[in-house]
Amino acid sequence: MMDNEVDVFYRELPKVELHAHLNGSVSCPTIEKLISRKPHLNIGHGMTAIGKGQRRTLDECFQVFKVIHQLVDTEEDILMVATDVIKEFAADGVKYLELRSTPREEKHTGLTKKSYIETVIKAIKQCKSEGVDIDVRFLVAIDRRNGTEVAMETVKLAEDFMLSSDGLVLGLDLSGDPTVGHGKDLLPALQKAKNCGLKLSLHLSEVPSQLEESDLLLDLPPDRIGHGTFLHPAMGGSQGIVDKVVKHNIPLELCLTSNVKGQTVARYSDHHFKHWYQMGHPSVICTDDKGVFSTDLSQEYQLAASTFDLSREAVWKLSHDAIDCIFAPDTVKQQLKQKWIYLKPQVFHYRETDSL
Ligand SMILES: [Zn+2]
Repeated sequence: MMDNEVDVFYRELPKVELHAHLNGSVSCPTIEKLISRKPHLNIGHGMTAIGKGQRRTLDECFQVFKVIHQLVDTEEDILMVATDVIKEFAADGVKYLELRSTPREEKHTGLTKKSYIETVIKAIKQCKSEGVDIDVRFLVAIDRRNGTEVAMETVKLAEDFMLSSDGLVLGLDLSGDPTVGHGKDLLPALQKAKNCGLKLSLHLSEVPSQLEESDLLLDLPPDRIGHGTFLHPAMGGSQGIVDKVVKHNIPLELCLTSNVKGQTVARYSDHHFKHWYQMGHPSVICTDDKGVFSTDLSQEYQLAASTFDLSREAVWKLSHDAIDCIFAPDTVKQQLKQKWIYLKPQVFHYRETDSL
């Protein structure tokens, strides 16, 4: 399968994207615009995306983010990036999107963490006013590398926005280089966030030998898990951990291409999606970083279907069941389910003409 050569069924399939980092989602055309704004940085294209067939270590992937951060350091950049990303997801058939990003301050441009989040919200509102057919929400990210104090500040900031953004800011993400820092230092901040009503999506067991940390953080419990690659006993995790995830019914955000290109999973057929999906556990297909990993959500659904032999009806159910895992309230879930009902005959009709 060539990049972008995705069956029309997967493009037309209405989709929910729950694990998308803003900076990692920036596409090639947007990177080009950023590079032309900042020619003095001397940044080449190959430094920001991992093409088909290419792989990088997880560490190298985090280097890519450093380059993107250099390119995105003003309110103007963030507005353009967020607007482009939202429109690209909409064009890919995503009807509901939760974007996440770590607010950054850049002293030399006057960017503050507060204005960073305000600008993302402005982009969401702009797209809405232009009639882009997608419901977008935002999760404020805590970068685990930055430690306890910054995590506490971020929770405060997220809480303020949760109360003032008309439901656009819904929760928190815990992410960043999984080999740095320990979850126990962030536990008080995450607990505080939970107590004030912020939803929690935590990157857990993205790398091996983090079971102890995952076990600790699962007691919160979080509302969703990012990756959870090494939780299952078949991946070196433990049954006790799986039992905990099942007991709390915590959905997993699963990103096939990200894990394969980032080399934490050897090949698609080894992806832990199969274990959780077979158990009937809520498993949501996501992109993680569609720009960095040169993918989109339609491709990820098609990859899951071809790798694990899912029927079109099963793929439909997979995208439909993701609605129950969103952080927006029940009224939004009901609206989305109506949309899926409305679109179904259309999507399956396309498939019929396709095969004629
Ligand atoms: Zn992620």
